[in-house]
Amino acid sequence: MNNIDFRSDTVTKPTPEMLEAMMQAKVGDDVFGEDETVKALEEKLAKLFQMEAALFCPSGTMSNQIAIKCFTQPMDEVICDQTAHVYRYEGGGIAYNSLASVRLLYGERGILTPQLIEPEINAENIHYPTSSLVVLENTVNKGGGKCYTLDQIAPINELCAEKNIKLHLDGARIFNALVATGDQAADYGQYFDGISVCLSKGLGAPVGSVFLSTKPIIKQATRIRKVLGGGMRQAGFLAAAGIYALDHHVNRLAIDHQHAQALADALEQANFVKNVMPVETNIVLFDVRDDLDSATVTSVLAKKGIMCNSTSNQTIRFVTHLDVSSAMIDQAIEIIETLKL
Ligand SMILES: *Cc1c(COP(=O)(O)O)cnc(C)c1O
Repeated sequence: MNNIDFRSDTVTKPTPEMLEAMMQAKVGDDVFGEDETVKALEEKLAKLFQMEAALFCPSGTMSNQIAIKCFTQPMDEVICDQTAHVYRYEGGGIAYNSLASVRLLYGERGILTPQLIEPEINAENIHYPTSSLVVLENTVNKGGGKCYTLDQIAPINELCAEKNIKLHLDGARIFNALVATGDQAADYGQYFDGISVCLSKGLGAPVGSVFLSTKPIIKQATRIRKVLGGGMRQAGFLAAAGIYALDHHVNRLAIDHQHAQALADALEQANFVKNVMPVETNIVLFDVRDDLDSATVTSVLAKKGIMCNSTSNQTIRFVTHLDVSSAMIDQAIEIIETLKL
């Protein structure tokens, strides 16, 4: 029996068709601006989100960190949810790269509102760091894949514009949000100063994220990427995987969402589960029974062939993706239904 890997949507391997597209890519030295496939990917995404320009980066972390560097000065403050990837999982990069402090908000499942943000914006006063950037995450990873709709984003954009604060989107899973909400990528550009998009999560590319913004910001971002060591040479082989993913792996995210819902339904009934967070996209977060702990449950599941991670002492995360088939979901559900702890 093969393992069923729910640890993350980053574990996918390129399909044969994606590999073929990579093999056919026309490449050049992208640090010299000579890789036409990288340029094609950047133009494709900029157009899709109605942003002026784009920059291909080796990781989502780098594209977020470049964005934060572009949108802040030392001694500024970044406003984000306390669960935000930019704060929790980027190694303290905001302090290291941008010399900025962070103001943490407590959104419901990581979702921020103008009401939460406004009181945390500092007035101009030499005692206070300058509030210069708000970062949203869509979908919210630690919020169990919860989505913002554009209706929720528009008033945050309005507040930021009024206060002269930049607004960045960590869109590592933005395509999951678009598929789940029915919002259009083209409507996103008007609300954000910067957007990071990951190709290596649900879309199934092996490497890559893209930072979208205005032409002057992307010019600055290109310089920062170089300083961080992210200038890549014949990166078109990787960009080709991204183009292939955008053309073939977006609509199918709906299948991952159905799979996640089916898992959640089974977990609701499972003997070892206390409660399951409502599913919106491809992430299922659930708490194990009070007398159990997540490490015990993940190790029992591992012996049965289900690989997954605990996200706290009581909480486990399942993530569905391109390399989890419907047959694997059926098999996982059978394991979940029959497991007694
Ligand atoms: C995965 C992820 C990123 C970027 O991660 P990399 O591993 O650096 O590509 C950024 N934000 C969120 C919410 C993520 O889940």
